Amino acid sequence: MEKIYDMIVVGGGPGGYTAALYGARAGLDVLVIERMSVGGQMALTGDIDNYPGFDEGIDGFTLGMRIQAGAERFGAKTEYASVTELIPGMPITVRTDAGDYFCRTLVFATGAYPRKLGIPEEESLVGQGIHYCAHCDGRFYKGKTVAVVGGGNSAAEDALYLSHLASKVYLIHRREELRADKIYKTALEGAKNVEILYNTTVASLVYDERVRSLCLDSTVGGGKSEIEIDALFVSVGRVPESALLDGIAELDPSGYVVADETTRTSVEGIFAVGDVRTKALRQVITAAADGATAAYYAEKYISTGEEAAGVGHIDK
Ligand code: NAP
Repeated sequence: MEKIYDMIVVGGGPGGYTAALYGARAGLDVLVIERMSVGGQMALTGDIDNYPGFDEGIDGFTLGMRIQAGAERFGAKTEYASVTELIPGMPITVRTDAGDYFCRTLVFATGAYPRKLGIPEEESLVGQGIHYCAHCDGRFYKGKTVAVVGGGNSAAEDALYLSHLASKVYLIHRREELRADKIYKTALEGAKNVEILYNTTVASLVYDERVRSLCLDSTVGGGKSEIEIDALFVSVGRVPESALLDGIAELDPSGYVVADETTRTSVEGIFAVGDVRTKALRQVITAAADGATAAYYAEKYISTGEEAAGVGHIDK
């Protein structure tokens, strides 16, 4: 008979490993399955200044390793494999490229990846002037001219971060008003080397072996222009990694897994945590909070056998 874990966590970011920590600490037999390296998107972030307890900030990679170590201290195990299919039931089957695993509860913590802009040659020029992580790659552009596309908090944060490295930063936004919070707008207005191009979209890239300039379209009046840049940082939101639950659990129109503050999905025994679930604020701390909550309900689901009472899934 194959081993049946109390809890399998798919995804080794802050939400996943916090579920593993709380689950293991509550005495559950927990396995985390991670595709590449721990930390999720957080590991690609530079300094994290808004995670409590680190008064001088901490880099995302180190925080990821420490959250993993905290879970493993209580007995959680990690397997590096790619999950290819989830089959609900009792037990739940987790099919991977390294074989099948079985569990009584599943914590879905796969996160979200950066949305592409969708212009020609964008993907082939990644690393050659096209980037999705200012904190990871901004340091290559000290004293250079860069552009950020997007109008949300991430784009504003990226533009500000880059303004301390680059000599000139264009922030390109398709509307006449930024979506970003006022605190960022004020900071951007005060940054002398940041120029905001409103009502503007990136139509195409001019490149040889790397990106050299951007062809821009005005969304008002239809004007066209070209700006020379050394790099374009794409910061236009995220796409949830929810394909494994498509057709199994309820997803919202944007693809986020529908789960309330209990993290319970529409499927018994399956919990969704972190950036992949429907929620207002996607941050490291809210992912970690989700993880703790999921472990609480998973433990309750297992220990009280309350399937019939609906402990394991949300009411539709
Ligand atoms: P977001 O808030 O969804 O903003 C995405 C931005 O990209 C929007 O301005 C959008 O334009 C633009 N956009 C989307 N698709 C585009 C396209 N194809 N071409 C051009 N522009 C496009 O995403 P985010 O900035 O990544 O933030 C995600 C979440 O994390 C948000 O909840 C945010 O508040 C949070 N966050 C918080 C902090 C913080 O509190 N310190 C920092 C970063 C992120 P429109 O405005 O026209 O839709």
